[in-house]
Amino acid sequence: MKKYDVVVIGAGPGGYVTAIRCAQLGLSVACIESWVNDEGKPALGGTCLNVGCIPSKALLDSSHHFHHIKHASNDHGITLTGITIDVNKMVSRKAKIVTTLTQGISALFNKNKVDWLKGRAQLLNNKEIEISPQHETHDEKTIVAASHIIIATGSVPTKIPPATVDNKLIVDSTGALAFNAVPHRLGVIGAGVIGLELGSVWNRLGSEVTILEALPDFLSLVDRQVAAAAEKSLRSQGLDIRLGAKVTGTGSNNREVTISYNDLQGRQQITVDKLIVAVGRSPNTAGLGVAECGIELDRRGFIVVDEHCKTNLANVYAIGDVVRGPMLAHKASEEGVAIAERIAGKPGLMNYATIPWVIYTWPEIAWVGKTEAQLQAEEIEYRTGSFPFMATGRARAMGEMNGLVKILADAKNDRVLGIHIFGANASELIAEAVITMEFDGSAEDLARTIHAHPTLSEAVHEAALAVDNRTIHL
Ligand code: FAD
Ligand code: NAD
Repeated sequence: MKKYDVVVIGAGPGGYVTAIRCAQLGLSVACIESWVNDEGKPALGGTCLNVGCIPSKALLDSSHHFHHIKHASNDHGITLTGITIDVNKMVSRKAKIVTTLTQGISALFNKNKVDWLKGRAQLLNNKEIEISPQHETHDEKTIVAASHIIIATGSVPTKIPPATVDNKLIVDSTGALAFNAVPHRLGVIGAGVIGLELGSVWNRLGSEVTILEALPDFLSLVDRQVAAAAEKSLRSQGLDIRLGAKVTGTGSNNREVTISYNDLQGRQQITVDKLIVAVGRSPNTAGLGVAECGIELDRRGFIVVDEHCKTNLANVYAIGDVVRGPMLAHKASEEGVAIAERIAGKPGLMNYATIPWVIYTWPEIAWVGKTEAQLQAEEIEYRTGSFPFMATGRARAMGEMNGLVKILADAKNDRVLGIHIFGANASELIAEAVITMEFDGSAEDLARTIHAHPTLSEAVHEAALAVDNRTIHL
């Protein structure tokens, strides 16, 4: 039986990054992965690279170009006619990006001498793992041993009884990344991150999109001011967002889907050509043998871990979507890096307070730290400063005036407690906010930092000045 210092189960952004960091630190490491792609080939990268972050952003970028060329070029004096979208080409481009990146991880494994063990892992105890081969191979089951086991098995789309995914008319996020034509009428259950991102993709390409959200508030986790600005903007783009809509059932006739739901007005029904179910994701521990080995799960099925991602079973850790905390690729990766370093005897640490969030609608929504509502609930005194994109020269030059930056700072010591951005390129602007918080910076630190002119980052600078009521351009 082959023995490793570390065996990682799962090669998503949690598992593959952990494996590489372990190898860099001189540990012998294997990564077990069961993913088989559409071509029937084993693939690394997990949800993120195969059916998540990367393919969704490829489609968001393609659809953004299409929409922008169609609707914004005239303002720049550019006249274009006969603009069309070739959906199959757009989807093939996405597939090519996925293949390039997933093969890139395989190359990184080779470079770092990480053994990629293909098949499905089942924990036998805290030292041994059985690997069942991929269904198309005739390999025998094997057992590997490890001094440390890291579970990074990720998550799967949550199912709801009123809308069973058939991957024909009713799809989950994976199906929604692979439509071969623009649906005329598209329904989405869930106005969360996936619902808004994928709803935006198909809306930009011409679908009439209706999003049904059970909760009465739009993006309840997001700062209220930012959520209100985003809701207004998305509605003006044509997304028909219906809040407080509780789906009770669906029926399909092989051509269209009828969705029944209840809202404050009573019983409602809509009919669509395709329906995306995007109501969250659930931890993936099926067949992994965790419960049999005595690993504690919480009531929602997440593996219970401490602040260093240790499970209750000695030398077994778990990271990423399969444990508590936000389901984000960078959160999974950084948890893995911290564990690898601790196993190697270094002080690996994970700062949960500075995990950035980005929702890749257009304009984008990004934030780090606490919202105003959280600060109020925690009775923390704060000062706030905000600044609209439209007052910056660069946003005007770009024609991207819709947006704002909002900074929340501790009233006692000016330390930044949260930064919330709605606007073009918020996904990039948020990095400055994360660094400020990571270094325990103050609004005054940001206000005294020289920002290049003309850039969108000047809105961050001005919002920091606004905390002290000294904006220049407003
Ligand atoms: P995963 O990426 O899910 O990887 C787990 C891996 O473990 C899989 O490859 C699986 O095959 C393997 N596995 C499971 N069980 C076994 C077993 N028993 N044996 C062997 N292998 C096994 N996050 C962001 O930060 N930014 C985004 O823009 C973003 N966009 C997203 C868009 C979509 C449409 C979706 C669905 C998700 C998106 N996410 C995004 C979330 C992100 O994909 C996840 O948070 C991230 O992939 C979690 O990483 P992970 O390593 O924990 O798990
Ligand atoms: P989500 O939790 O973001 O949103 C799900 C939404 O569905 C919620 O608003 C919820 O209230 C609603 N909902 C639940 N049950 C419902 C029902 N029966 N009827 C109507 N609405 C219902 O989940 P998601 O959008 O599926 O995404 C899953 C996770 O994947 C996210 O939480 C996020 O962590 C990750 N993700 C991240 C990104 C990103 O970072 N940009 C992108 C996509 C996904």
